[in-house]
Amino acid sequence: MKKINILGIEYEIINIYEHIDGMNNAGFIDHDKTRMTIYHDALSKEHSKITLLHEIIHGIVDQQEIDFGDNDEELYIDPRLFPFIKIGEKVSLDELRKSMIDAEL
Ligand SMILES: [Zn+2]
Repeated sequence: MKKINILGIEYEIINIYEHIDGMNNAGFIDHDKTRMTIYHDALSKEHSKITLLHEIIHGIVDQQEIDFGDNDEELYIDPRLFPFIKIGEKVSLDELRKSMIDAEL
């Protein structure tokens, strides 16, 4: 059983390799049960890694009680956006979205 410690909380990582009908998410995190599930079916290896990183960031956000207010947490913690975020520089979510679309991510 794979586990990852996120800021003192141990999360179990469940890897699912079979196809599940109606499953649109590549992964999800259950904070109450402290486990994250990654669905590898139809995911490239790279996408699987990004999905795992995404769920880990959800865990960090939860532990740190970061409040995104009206903003969509899903978009802010998308690892594909990280190359476009520069520390100390204000950037709007629309600009980030546009950068991602321009880069065809
Ligand atoms: Zn998410």
